[in-house]
Amino acid sequence: MQNNPDKPQVIVIGAGIGGIATAARLARTGRQVTVLEKCEKTGGRCGRMRVDGYTFDTGATIFMMPDLYARTFADLGERMQDHLDLRRIDPTYHLTFPDGLQLQLTSDMQQMRSRLEAIETGSFERMLHYLSEAGHIYDLSMPKMLGRDFRSLSEFINPRMLLLFLQVKALTRHTSYVRRFFKDPRLQMAFTFQDMYMGLSPFESPATYSLMQYTELAEGLWYPMGGMYHVTEVLTAIAEKLGVHFRYNAPVEKILVEGARATGVQLADGQVIPADTVVANADLGYVYRNLLPDASEADRIDRKEYGCSTIMFYLGLDKQYPQLGPHNLFLCGDYRRSFEDIFRDTGMPDEPNFYIHAPVRLDPSMAPAGHDTWYVAVPVGHINSKISQDWPRMQAHARAFILQRLARLGLTDVAEHIRTEVSFVPRDWQERYNLPFGSTHGLSHKLTQMAYLRPHNRHSRYHNLYFVGASTHPGTGVPTVLISAGLAARRILEDAGREETPP
Ligand SMILES: Cc1cc2nc3c(=O)[nH]c(=O)nc-3n(C[C@H](O)[C@H](O)[C@H](O)COP(=O)(O)OP(=O)(O)OC[C@H]3O[C@@H](n4cnc5c(N)ncnc54)[C@H](O)[C@@H]3O)c2cc1C
Repeated sequence: MQNNPDKPQVIVIGAGIGGIATAARLARTGRQVTVLEKCEKTGGRCGRMRVDGYTFDTGATIFMMPDLYARTFADLGERMQDHLDLRRIDPTYHLTFPDGLQLQLTSDMQQMRSRLEAIETGSFERMLHYLSEAGHIYDLSMPKMLGRDFRSLSEFINPRMLLLFLQVKALTRHTSYVRRFFKDPRLQMAFTFQDMYMGLSPFESPATYSLMQYTELAEGLWYPMGGMYHVTEVLTAIAEKLGVHFRYNAPVEKILVEGARATGVQLADGQVIPADTVVANADLGYVYRNLLPDASEADRIDRKEYGCSTIMFYLGLDKQYPQLGPHNLFLCGDYRRSFEDIFRDTGMPDEPNFYIHAPVRLDPSMAPAGHDTWYVAVPVGHINSKISQDWPRMQAHARAFILQRLARLGLTDVAEHIRTEVSFVPRDWQERYNLPFGSTHGLSHKLTQMAYLRPHNRHSRYHNLYFVGASTHPGTGVPTVLISAGLAARRILEDAGREETPP
């Protein structure tokens, strides 16, 4: 691609979802945008791996909040339905509780009634109440907290925001809140486990995140044919069409600064690329620690709380297991204890919870005919240098535990049918994508790290250096990162004094 020196030059560090979406938005306003990515392709944590004919999404697998994706497409002058073949997933989850009881969550309210009432009398009506409250929380939080660019403390701490905090239950723990609706501990689990997607324990997280259960059952869970990585592919293609230039295997080593400005970047091979604007999509803590000069700022970010990590098993099997749905969650052992082991002790429970994504039931292209691909995620603590963490032992224990747990449910021959196996531990996440402490979800979403209190989308000193991605405002998860791309792009255009800001 020919560089046009007359256009404002933008460098984006990292081709995760946030980097791609910001780059595309800026290219659409006439800027010359180059994305520098250390890996061989785009995607980061929304990635893909192909091994021996099996296709695995490596990170994100759950497509929720379709409106937020659609808005990004619209802002880029495209229609989501022209690019993504979305299939609704129902039942949304196949849950297995510690005692072996199984429950499929569904948006079909007739079925949900009979399933819930069989567990606890009166629970269906209470679930409707819970979801209606959660819908209200969702409607308030989206524009007033998640989609809002907080620029000053007074925008955040004022009577109106205090009222909002109360309305969205930000000061109430999620597990305490759910107990008002369900007595049965299994139903309490069924309506809180999703907090793990924010890298949080439901025993610590605000009840605000009940909005996830609302969106899953009301707006639905979806599957983009081709897998979540197809979203990455499509957004990359749109960005390229808008003129974005992607350079792969191009790790940035330093952001160059002078006074109150970033002047460009230096690559690992020594090449210096000047820029008018720098956007950092690599995880925020890594950028402060490794790419910027100020060690005390990096220390400050390091002292913040990070979310959990995962041990992963990507399995290609020469047999299909109809007992599994697309999203299967196995809750094991003591619910509270399992989160303490992960979040307080940065380890792994003896009986770890795990999640299996088995996309072949929706999308046969993900495996050779008659075969299955399984993505198995085991939430674990992030890397903690203050304690000894024996990852190979935990990895082996998790693998054996999962096979045993599946055998108890009648899937006795899984080990014999594994043809391909790739496993990640937290260090792999750290090394592949430069994630601080190997935290798959970045900075935690606890109350004191939300909204204004979360790192902003612009650096406080270097005013042409912006941040986008999971550890910035508003937070982790593909749809949330897409919001952060919108906020960062808007700020860049506002700072440049342009009239036409993207919506
Ligand atoms: C296991 C797992 C499961 C998940 N499940 C879901 C889910 O089901 N649904 C959902 O919505 N979200 C899910 N998420 C979260 C979601 O994937 C992430 O929040 C999102 O993809 C993060 O995007 P990002 O833009 O912040 O950047 P990242 O994905 O972190 O991308 C940053 C990019 O920067 C690159 N980079 C880093 N350092 C440099 C450097 N020095 N120079 C150049 N490039 C650099 C990295 O290689 C990477 O490509 C999951 C994440 C994980 C890990």
